[in-house]
Amino acid sequence: MKIAIYPGSFDPITKGHLDILHTASEIFDKVIIAVARNPEKQGFLPVDVRVKLIKKSVKDMQNVEVDFFEGLTINYARERGATILIRGLRAVSDFEYEMQLSQANSALASEVKTVFLTTKPKYNFISSSTIKEIFLNKGDISKFVPEPVNEYLQNSYKC
Ligand code: ADP
Repeated sequence: MKIAIYPGSFDPITKGHLDILHTASEIFDKVIIAVARNPEKQGFLPVDVRVKLIKKSVKDMQNVEVDFFEGLTINYARERGATILIRGLRAVSDFEYEMQLSQANSALASEVKTVFLTTKPKYNFISSSTIKEIFLNKGDISKFVPEPVNEYLQNSYKC
């Protein structure tokens, strides 16, 4: 059984993330999408809210589990019996950082392989930080995020 972890901040989850997850769920037996909790970085949404919104957004994906973790991704992967890490690539600008990360992970745990996936072109430019910026400036984010995220943000930030 090939278990893959899709780690990230998901602050919040976007349609770009979901597209990557869909593809991964077709390739691997089980995919665990895991929110990385960083006690030093507060983020936009609390981790438990991010997890809740992901759960609502992946309801239709049978082989996807939602979780969170703290510390090194490879330790979490080992704990969960996963040998694959999924990461997404948008532009060349992602490449250097992602390459470095995957090589560091590989040096620490050679049995854990990183697999890079891309999204459909229409989701390619979407990032959580762009979404935050559009939303905080009162723009319409409904095309870029799953409905539960849009609904949560609209309700939480009503003035
Ligand atoms: P992190 O803080 O770990 O980068 P993110 O939630 O920003 O967490 O992203 C998680 C992963 O998903 C990263 O590999 C990122 O490159 C990828 N990703 C995010 N948005 C997209 C997108 N629109 N297309 C392709 N990959 C994406």
